Amino acid sequence: ETSSGYCYSDRLLISQLLRQPGRFTHKGDMGHALLLAGSYGKMGAAVLASKACLKAGAGLLTTHVPRLGYNIIQTAVPEAMACIDRSDILLSEFPDLDVFDAVGVGPGIGAKPNTMTAMKELLLALNGKPAVMDADALNILSLDEALWDLMPGNVIITPHPGEFDRLAGTSNSAFERLQKAKQFAKDMQVVIVLKGAYTAVINTDGHCYFNSSGNYGMATAGSGDALTGILLALLAQGYSVLEAARLGVYLHGLAADLLLTHMAEEAIVASDIISKIGAAFQ
Ligand code: AMP
Ligand code: MG
Repeated sequence: ETSSGYCYSDRLLISQLLRQPGRFTHKGDMGHALLLAGSYGKMGAAVLASKACLKAGAGLLTTHVPRLGYNIIQTAVPEAMACIDRSDILLSEFPDLDVFDAVGVGPGIGAKPNTMTAMKELLLALNGKPAVMDADALNILSLDEALWDLMPGNVIITPHPGEFDRLAGTSNSAFERLQKAKQFAKDMQVVIVLKGAYTAVINTDGHCYFNSSGNYGMATAGSGDALTGILLALLAQGYSVLEAARLGVYLHGLAADLLLTHMAEEAIVASDIISKIGAAFQ
């Protein structure tokens, strides 16, 4: 770490962030996560993020899905509790947040009017409870700029370059995008995970941490949904937004790197990455 405002998150720095739960830990200590995900045709995003959240150590997970997702989530992820929306096909509401330690929102939710309204209500309800916002949640935030006035503290956003450009305008180079992201993190007081090779984690003070793990096999459908689940689990366990972002991004990349002993990058799918989260923690 240097005074330049940039840090390279290597294995040693990251391992210092990892906490060791004790022998007498119970699931209440590991946090209760709430995931808001999925809609018609995109239930896979909810399944992948849920599985990743549980593999990354959340004590309990409740996944809120539209009615059509009930059988899917209960069958694909038996460890998760399901909370069912009044809508058949999309997210239009969410449960009382009181019992949850952290909230994840976005994978596969779409950006229909009812979902945009629910997103606004969520911003008002969060009140500083740790949250990770990804995918369609970010698209909603780029469709209605006024929502940024409601942005609470303790939020991580996880845009890929296309999503970030929709939020902050197009950039002509990766360097320009990084400079914009540093300003954006300070202006909006959110931790930004700007995804790509060497993902940048940007703190609310503009300090930037480049990630050292990962490979191009992660450029595959659902890879980002797995990251959302990991970050949600770490927030539920009580890691700060900055710690969760740095640690989660590293573990996600390491999980993908551990696959390379027995498959080529081309073959990696998101479920493979999730299957190595446990080995990455080890
Ligand atoms: P998403 O586009 O939301 O599915 O997220 C893709 C995920 O894969 C992010 O975590 C990226 O950082 C990661 N990723 C994509 N391409 C690469 C690459 N060439 N090297 C390392 N990680 C990558
Ligand atoms: Mg994504």
